[in-house]
Amino acid sequence: MAFDIEMIKKVYANFGPRVEAARKLVGRPLTLSEKILYAHLWEGNTNTSYNRGVDYVDFAPDRVAMQDATAQMALLQFMQAGRPKVAVPSTVHCDHLITAKLGAAIDLPAANTESKEVFDFLSSVSNKYGIGFWKPGAGIIHQVVLENYAFPGGMMIGTDSHTVNAGGLGMVAIGVGGADACDVMAGLPWELKFPKLIGVKLTGKLNGWTSPKDVILKVAGILTVKGGTGAIVEYFGDGAKNLSCTGKGTICNMGAEIGATTSTFGYDESMERYLRATNRADVADAANAIAAHLTGDAEVYAEPEKYFDQLIEINLSELEPYLNGPFTPDLATPISKMKEVAAANGWPLKVEWGLIGSCTNSSYEDLSRAASIAKQAVDKGLTTKAEFGINPGSEQVRYTANRDGLLATFEDLNATIFTNACGPCIGMWDRVGAEKQEKNTIVHSFNRNFAKRADGNPNTYAFVTSPEVVAAIAIAGDLGFNPLTDTLTNNKGEQVKLDPPKGDELPVNGYAVEDAGYQEPAKDGSGVQVIVSPTSHRLQLLDPFAAWEGTDLKGLKLLIKAKGKCTTDHISMAGPWLKFRGHLDNISNNMLIGAVNFFNEKTDNVKNELTGEYGPVPATQRAYKAAGIGSIVVGDENYGEGSSREHAAMEPRHLGVRAVLVKSFARIHETNLKKQGMLGLTFANKDDYDKILEDDAIDIIGLTTFTPNVPLTLVLNHADGTKEEIVVNHSYNAQQIEWFKAGGALNIIRREAAA
Ligand code: SF4
Repeated sequence: MAFDIEMIKKVYANFGPRVEAARKLVGRPLTLSEKILYAHLWEGNTNTSYNRGVDYVDFAPDRVAMQDATAQMALLQFMQAGRPKVAVPSTVHCDHLITAKLGAAIDLPAANTESKEVFDFLSSVSNKYGIGFWKPGAGIIHQVVLENYAFPGGMMIGTDSHTVNAGGLGMVAIGVGGADACDVMAGLPWELKFPKLIGVKLTGKLNGWTSPKDVILKVAGILTVKGGTGAIVEYFGDGAKNLSCTGKGTICNMGAEIGATTSTFGYDESMERYLRATNRADVADAANAIAAHLTGDAEVYAEPEKYFDQLIEINLSELEPYLNGPFTPDLATPISKMKEVAAANGWPLKVEWGLIGSCTNSSYEDLSRAASIAKQAVDKGLTTKAEFGINPGSEQVRYTANRDGLLATFEDLNATIFTNACGPCIGMWDRVGAEKQEKNTIVHSFNRNFAKRADGNPNTYAFVTSPEVVAAIAIAGDLGFNPLTDTLTNNKGEQVKLDPPKGDELPVNGYAVEDAGYQEPAKDGSGVQVIVSPTSHRLQLLDPFAAWEGTDLKGLKLLIKAKGKCTTDHISMAGPWLKFRGHLDNISNNMLIGAVNFFNEKTDNVKNELTGEYGPVPATQRAYKAAGIGSIVVGDENYGEGSSREHAAMEPRHLGVRAVLVKSFARIHETNLKKQGMLGLTFANKDDYDKILEDDAIDIIGLTTFTPNVPLTLVLNHADGTKEEIVVNHSYNAQQIEWFKAGGALNIIRREAAA
């Protein structure tokens, strides 16, 4: 499983010279983010200074990580690329396909049976192409990556939006779609618009009940779910040095919730401690040797307003615990205000479940701080009023936490210890009674709380907070409980108060594990067979998408005009649909079923223009496809926010949607559309959204001269015989226009491999 120290040494050998060259080129001191970006330019090209937020740049990432749900499509695509082996170190992590129900001892074997075909496929394809494979139960991708592969100053891409978690160990780690991962594994450059920079200066020190989670919950409240779009968030200042490495990971993890490209921290002693504790003294030594390059230049941090596009300051000493939610992770409420805010909004105060885990908060430190609250509850004669569930982040964390008695402490409070996996965080939670769709409240330490995300119930009010606050609120069973000031009644009728949490940044007796759950790939995988049954419901080999026909697109039907928030969960739902992530045709039956139809305010109910009847979105689109008619999807702001899953782009492509036109895109989704050969367009005038009518036939004009920076024209042919023209923008560069023409980026890779 060993990380590749030789690869890291090679990166570090180039790092200093490239940073020096970039500093000269740019003509000023550099932020850490810029250093990492410039050190990873494709083929070491440090001849050009790039405009932030403007220029598309080719990078050479050091690693690729994939989780089981997205790896299926990424690797099905890679199999089409014609390469014998991956070009950069890559890993697959089985964490998404494991339902949380009765506890790990029962749930994990059940998942191994239910998803055997998929796990076997991932195991064999990894074995064949030189990819490290982490078995089900080994842990959540981002925790395992932090423990084993992340390194200061590195660049990684991963087919999961919380890949950004590795910023906790000083990486620039970015969530991408499977098509991007496929490119990098095939040895091609990876393209990204050079990000803008948001600086977050941290001063002071966390104390009492506050934790790293509260830093990002506050930042989310300030920046909102869109505020980080197109930017790297760089944390610095004395306050940053006072945070643990895994705490930094928590903060970077939830950078995905503000739309940030990624987040990162400069190399410091907390990272060195973590590297040494996780058996990577040689990485720590190598990082120490170039430590000055692994953080921003002193001048930058002395006058940050000169170097960052936006600056935020947070004094950790004054920070208060937060609960963010419901239904969006940026609705930040300080714990002291929750009672009144919940009452004013009619949020149910009774808490039914407290869940600790997810890649955001499942480190040893997280479990130890939450366990200190659980222990107090037992010692003080309290029982938990809510049900309690724990997902450790990795087998190493679970084994160590078990050895140290932390899990037994939770069990003393009747907690269920679920598998080391995503579980409820990705809707893989067989929650008893969820189908009744009752209004209820849960608190969790995860990152996302969109409607239906955890249990499929649209009436579950989910609040995101730190593990220790989850523990306290689960014990109280009351969303309005403030452990800083309030008391609870114990089994003797006494009023008792919970003391602030205590925990260990790293296990005092070191990490331990018996079987981490890793499978090393074959040295020569050429003889390994990858089997996909043609009758499988879970896996389907891909057929190439058709190339563009060379003409403007005329007479497109409006499939849906989506109203309001339309995340990747709305476009390609998770939960029960996860099991079809390797079967494009089957999973396409969830296409846009969560999006709200502007014209009737309903989900999964759109007008079929061929029959005039209303029906489900996928069935309507299949009817258009069968009739050989293209269609268009219209959306609102930040369309496609959320996850990196390219299914949200591949499904419409597979079913014959030709274009997605929105007020604005989330970055990863826009790129995913381009990679799959779709047209991703934005309104030049956002008010034109109102001009799109349900019965319109729509023409897209200008494709025969499709050129970077030149808008296209849409003709709206209204049902009453009138026409309107509107201007639509696009962000395609020359390369991306080639993807569109070829019918998708993969068609070009395959062509080149065959040449
Ligand atoms: Fe898994 Fe949730 Fe983390 Fe995604 S956010 S990797 S689903 S734990």
